[in-house]
Amino acid sequence: MKRIYMDYAATTPVDTRVLAAMLPFFNDNFGNPSSLHAFGQEAKRAVEKARDTIAAYIGASPEEIVFTSGGTESDNCAIKGVAYAKKDKGNHIITSSIEHHAVLESCRFLEENGFEVTSVPVDADGLVDPSDVEKAITDRTTLISIMHGNNEIGTMQPVAEIGDIARRRGVVFHTDAVQSFGCPPIDIDGMNVDLLSASGHKIYGPKGVGILYIRKGTRIQPFMHGGGQERGRRASTHNVPGIVGMGKAVELAMADMDQETDRLISLRDRMIRGILENIDDSRLNGHPLRRLPNNVNVSIEYVEGESLLLSLDMEGIACSTGSACTSSNLEPSHVMMAIGLPHETAHGSLRFTLGRYTSEEDIEYVTGILPGIVKRLRAMSPLYKEDRI
Ligand SMILES: *Cc1c(COP(=O)(O)O)cnc(C)c1O
Repeated sequence: MKRIYMDYAATTPVDTRVLAAMLPFFNDNFGNPSSLHAFGQEAKRAVEKARDTIAAYIGASPEEIVFTSGGTESDNCAIKGVAYAKKDKGNHIITSSIEHHAVLESCRFLEENGFEVTSVPVDADGLVDPSDVEKAITDRTTLISIMHGNNEIGTMQPVAEIGDIARRRGVVFHTDAVQSFGCPPIDIDGMNVDLLSASGHKIYGPKGVGILYIRKGTRIQPFMHGGGQERGRRASTHNVPGIVGMGKAVELAMADMDQETDRLISLRDRMIRGILENIDDSRLNGHPLRRLPNNVNVSIEYVEGESLLLSLDMEGIACSTGSACTSSNLEPSHVMMAIGLPHETAHGSLRFTLGRYTSEEDIEYVTGILPGIVKRLRAMSPLYKEDRI
């Protein structure tokens, strides 16, 4: 059977060129970068090369990049790290209602520990209004954390404007760029960010490695205590193969960034049209234009997203409903609720995320197969029949 993967927002395969770059660092070059001998120094050079590549990609200097165990750690480290480092100045944090759980739960933890959190709403397209962020700032506000590209509905936030407000008001600004890192281009100065999270396994690199960009002069309270790695900001022996892999993944993404961004946008829009034109009572979720180049999120009325997902899976097609972390839960995701979708519509949502190995034929195949599946499921749906009579 033909198998088509359209869940790149959940994770991506490791590019074979990334794997080849990583392999020597498991055995031939196994040194600990903190060791002073030749074995260690060789590993250290590889880590620093990856750091240089990643810094150059986002327009940072290498000392501003800290390697972590992934996007979740980067988010935790940014949010708790700034909150605790600045707790003598204030205890108020601003975030949005559609953040990833890594941000939401970090904020919830802080709330349970004496901090105050304001969550700004989003509009029906999932956009944060920068003036809502500005209005939420008080003289106790120390941190704003608003994501770049949303993992479920693909909406891209006006981070440059939010960052500009944060800077004028003297508040630290963090963005979770895990979904947007690698495509489209990232420029930390243009985005006015002080901290930025990214993850290896969302960009054709390995799982278990990520970065946190920390602008020079931004203080964070480290929460991994141990050796002095990463200039004291994140203890623990470096994950050398992972770091090398993430560096290579960024190098590959940079090599054809503009072309790949255009290619994905064209595939994305073709798929959106193909679904909306061929399935009645379907709608696009997320902003039509300000969205990640690879995200297609649609709601199809009178069917369960879960049933659609399983039927597609039987045809060899992999996608998701809401986000991978919430799809085992019966409640619609917090993102679907935040954009104001009725429960039933939210339940009929499907997310297809495209990537490096998605072809035009894949798009044709999936948009060709979906209407038949919807028709079959709707024929069994009492809701659909009631509405039609
Ligand atoms: C995947 C993801 C994360 C978590 O990254 P991990 O490396 O899996 O810990 C955080 N934020 C967003 C937006 C994500 O999509």
